[in-house]
Amino acid sequence: MQVIHNYIGGKFVPPGGGNYIDNYAPATGEIFGKIPDSDEKDIANAVAAATAAFPAWASLPLEQRHDILRAVSDGILQNLDRLAEAETLDSGKTIFASRTVDIPRAALNFKFFATALLHFASESHQMPGALSYTLRQPLGVVGCISPWNLPLYLFTWKIAPALAAGNCVVGKPSEITPLTACLLGEICNAAGMPPGVLNIVHGLGPKAGEAIVRHPQVKAVSFTGSTRAGAEIARIAAPMFKKLSLELGGKNPNLIFADCDYDKMLETTVRSSFSNQGQICLCGSRIYVEKTIFEKFKKDFVERVKAMKVGDPMHPDSRLGAVVSKPHFEKILSYIELAKQEGGSILCGGEVVELPGKLSGGWYIAPTVIEGLTLQCRTNQEEIFGPVVTIEPFDSDDEALALANGVSYGLSATVWTNNLSRAQRFAAELQAGIVWVNCWLLRDLRTPFGGVKQSGVGREGGWEAMRFFTETKNVTIAG
Ligand code: NAD
Repeated sequence: MQVIHNYIGGKFVPPGGGNYIDNYAPATGEIFGKIPDSDEKDIANAVAAATAAFPAWASLPLEQRHDILRAVSDGILQNLDRLAEAETLDSGKTIFASRTVDIPRAALNFKFFATALLHFASESHQMPGALSYTLRQPLGVVGCISPWNLPLYLFTWKIAPALAAGNCVVGKPSEITPLTACLLGEICNAAGMPPGVLNIVHGLGPKAGEAIVRHPQVKAVSFTGSTRAGAEIARIAAPMFKKLSLELGGKNPNLIFADCDYDKMLETTVRSSFSNQGQICLCGSRIYVEKTIFEKFKKDFVERVKAMKVGDPMHPDSRLGAVVSKPHFEKILSYIELAKQEGGSILCGGEVVELPGKLSGGWYIAPTVIEGLTLQCRTNQEEIFGPVVTIEPFDSDDEALALANGVSYGLSATVWTNNLSRAQRFAAELQAGIVWVNCWLLRDLRTPFGGVKQSGVGREGGWEAMRFFTETKNVTIAG
């Protein structure tokens, strides 16, 4: 039984209340560990440690702050195998994904923002007889709350810019996938990070998470997770005038036109539908295809999807693993049932995958393609966040745009076309924070990242993140 602890003031400490939550392995369905069920007193201790560490961290010469964050990045890579195994054990994602995507990206997040802090600068404005300049000062103690789908990847995506900007952090990873965040504490100590600069508290969202949001000393909250929890956080934080960055759910359209590069589109659409078992907020779960190529696409896509094998997440050849938890497994299956009731036809998948031996208790679902559903039905309106996509034909550009924009979410959209005018029109008119044309999940960490509508407010990435984690002050000197 692996028992993990909170990381507060550079030390690993048990929760004050002595309560723990079971940690499940999605591959087998077994309980393999315990994690702290922290409460507001644990959060208060973490905030106190962060508050004490803040003056020295904020005034550290930039090169030294860079060196420490860079050493954390190096430490993540030195521990790549250990971290990847922990991530796969905890989340059910394939070891291939953990090794090649999640953990390398976590290292890159620290490397990227370690460098960014050396180049971050502010503006000055001259007028006759006066000079104004902008100060961007760290906020103090900030909260970073992250989800289970890309555990260390998204946790570090918040923590690295917060620390780079000179803040101290109280972070809470998802209670469903806490292991790699715990290992990050060890890596920070080895990298020479001063105690209290980063604190990691484990526990439930409505208890430990909300205590971070409510704490008066926490000046900003960067949250990634469900729209439901984001709304709750906004409700608590708004009257306290905290800075908020909310990265929430999605129901992203994938628009395929007959003039696209078909082979590249097909290969990428398989990935954009089912990577990480469809549990990426950026997955294109609503596929709309121009009518003239719809039947061909349907045949080719379903053939490819049927060939995908769900397997042991720890096996290096597996490309589809388990979904993250029993409640999530049941939620996905209930949406497949709902799709049938709503009149959808299951073209492939739609069933539980039984794996042998110890894996028989795990949570595996075959990649599922559904057709014949209207835009208005719940299957096409609500986020499923699993290996389930719908496909439908469209006739015209206007219809494609209306279908794409006809949901309450607005995170990302993908457009496959070689018509430049159409690409530009869709890029401008799609209601999404991120538009990919002829690609998917092609990320440049300098670009703004975030959603519109129910997909959130605020932007992460590059200077956007450095600006979020600093307070802007204008100074005018008359001379
Ligand atoms: P979730 O909202 O249940 O939990 C996310 C985190 O918030 C967890 O750490 C949880 O403990 C905490 N939390 C939950 N309720 C809280 C509350 N009331 N106060 C404070 N903290 C609280 O989400 P999840 O199920 O872990 O993640 C899946 C969701 O995340 C999906 O909706 C997905 O689209 C979204 N997501 C969005 C992005 C993005 O960049 N927009 C990226 C990844 C995942």
